[in-house]
Amino acid sequence: MTEKTAGSNFIRQIIDADIDHGKHSEIVTRFPPEPNGYLHIGHAKSIWLNFGIARDYGGRCTLRFDDTNPVKEDAEFVEAIERDVRWLGYEIGAVAHASDYFEQLHDFALELIDRGLAYVDSLPAEQIREYRGTLTEPGRNSPDRDNSVESNREQFERMRAGDFGDGERVLRAKIDMASPNINMRDPVIYRIRHHAHQRTGDAWCIYPMYDFTHGLSDAIEGVTHSLCTLEFEDHRPLYDWFIANVTAPSEPRQIEFSRLNLSYTVMSKRLLTRLISSGVVDGWDDPRMPTLSGLRRRGFTPASVRNFIASVGITKKDNVIDMLVLENAVREDLDPVAPRAMAVLKPLRVTISNLPEDHAESISVANHPKDESFGTREVTLSREIFIERDDFMLDPPKKFFRLSPGGEVRLRNAFVIRCVSVENDADGNVASLVCEYLPETRNGVQPEGRKVKGIIHWVNAADALDAEVRLYDRLFREANPRPDQDGEFHEALNPDSLVTLTGCKLEASLAAASMDTRYQFERLGYFCQDPDSIPGHPVYNRIVTLRDSWAKAGAAG
Ligand code: ATP
Ligand code: MG
Repeated sequence: MTEKTAGSNFIRQIIDADIDHGKHSEIVTRFPPEPNGYLHIGHAKSIWLNFGIARDYGGRCTLRFDDTNPVKEDAEFVEAIERDVRWLGYEIGAVAHASDYFEQLHDFALELIDRGLAYVDSLPAEQIREYRGTLTEPGRNSPDRDNSVESNREQFERMRAGDFGDGERVLRAKIDMASPNINMRDPVIYRIRHHAHQRTGDAWCIYPMYDFTHGLSDAIEGVTHSLCTLEFEDHRPLYDWFIANVTAPSEPRQIEFSRLNLSYTVMSKRLLTRLISSGVVDGWDDPRMPTLSGLRRRGFTPASVRNFIASVGITKKDNVIDMLVLENAVREDLDPVAPRAMAVLKPLRVTISNLPEDHAESISVANHPKDESFGTREVTLSREIFIERDDFMLDPPKKFFRLSPGGEVRLRNAFVIRCVSVENDADGNVASLVCEYLPETRNGVQPEGRKVKGIIHWVNAADALDAEVRLYDRLFREANPRPDQDGEFHEALNPDSLVTLTGCKLEASLAAASMDTRYQFERLGYFCQDPDSIPGHPVYNRIVTLRDSWAKAGAAG
């Protein structure tokens, strides 16, 4: 597998210039997830960027949990996030929590109050919103805006002491109620929340708001380049304002880049949470989820995710990346490293009538068609085998090159068989086939006077392993799924995103398969074992098909 290099991008160019100008002795970044859900592939872009830059510039990247909202956050998410960052291939050095800085942030707030740059407002939330104005109208000053420093101090102390209920007071920065940038119209920087925090417990009942916390946490950590997504561009003046107006320990610079958007999925934790709570998927690590834990369970490799992000690149342009780019990244990553094996998903029993009852020949098969270093394995072939039901048709169309009554097809790595009779079950459905093999057709030799084009895979019946196979496909059938009015996705969902097959037949060599080997099942796709596998009952997930079937379906429709 070859790792795509990070290459250059506009952010690295800025950093290079800063280094040339001697601005920094060390490059410091951070990845700042809010622990209110699991990481998704959009976060992978931010991780790749922040951890990748720190590594390549010999700097450091802090994993900082942005835990300023005690209501939505959970320790489970903190653990999952750390696991996923490591899985993606990055070493976690420093771990921090915005809540580590609550005391310092509180001091910064006092500093703003003392400088006459922050005030406690008793307007109810609704009125604060109303007073804020609109894009076309300036805001109005709150009656509390000109309260004295002493009164603001006293009120803020009472907020902290718990003298007020949720929403009864807020602390606001005193900036400019007429600013064309609404973020600058005296934003709220502290609110009251009587709610225990997962880390600080009941120590606080006031919590700092995102913009205030974020930039000042960056400054506390000595972050040099604070990389975030484009929706924060309008917040940058505020980011800079906070840093300029307290005695900030350092002066980080915020740089924005475009979010990763993927077709045929949704990517906000809010919507992903919804998919789980309404039972559309089994959980955060459902293999159809665009979460890192879902992709991992599905069988995606960390390298395929990194390569995908590298190929998308870092820009300021908003766009939507086609899901097939991600699917191709995993195909490309697995093709050279996945050993091949044979598996039959929907088995149809075939008796090769001209082989003796006790026949059992051992065939030496290459484990990888393009790489001899994978070696070979022995596959047994005897009188009874399984082929795919889909490889047989009673009444085939003209260009069907597989098996049909009287027809011929080659068994992969073996010989040509001819279908001599079809046995039906009580309902008249095809139950099994009787075939004859053509002894002269071993080693790829064609039968006399004709060419057998089709080659199908098969599994020996006597020693086949029974398995459950889960065929995963895109969760949505619409490229740009949006929730309905009730917040659900009914219409947009792909009803076939999961097809569970039982009684699948695997070749015997897979009895020794390790949990983390990803296989190419010939002609079917790439597969790996699901954690639900138990000895004697293997469960395989289809990671991806061999080729894109959606482009075709789209072209036909
Ligand atoms: P969500 O809407 O999914 O909750 P978020 O931006 O609120 O996403 P955070 O946990 O706050 O999620 O994000 C942590 C970091 O990851 C932030 O710096 C954020 O900008 C970045 N990030 C989140 N989603 C994407 C994305 N789709 N593409 C690139 N970066 C992203
Ligand atoms: Mg968020």
